[in-house]
Amino acid sequence: MYEDKTLTCKACGKQFVFSANEQAFFAEKGFQQEPTRCKECRAKQRQEKASRTTIITCSNCGKKETVTFQVAYPDHLLCDDCFNLLRTQQTNNQALPNSA
Ligand SMILES: [Zn+2]
Ligand SMILES: [Zn+2]
Repeated sequence: MYEDKTLTCKACGKQFVFSANEQAFFAEKGFQQEPTRCKECRAKQRQEKASRTTIITCSNCGKKETVTFQVAYPDHLLCDDCFNLLRTQQTNNQALPNSA
């Protein structure tokens, strides 16, 4: 069976316990590596990921919106409403190619 292990967190340098339960869980999931960060640092990392948001301004209506992905061209973005509207218009145009 597993025994509690003391590991050192790579992020903050603190020692933390990799418990027998966690080791069993890791083995069950097929993880080959031991955790490199303590619980607090892992929680912090998750939080940072979640808070990595960007505020964009819609280039069509000027509405500000928060997005959770990395934006390459924040000046050329549309809000959800305009994006859907434009997509609908484009779909309609494609459906009637000879209307003009
Ligand atoms: Zn840590
Ligand atoms: Zn818009």
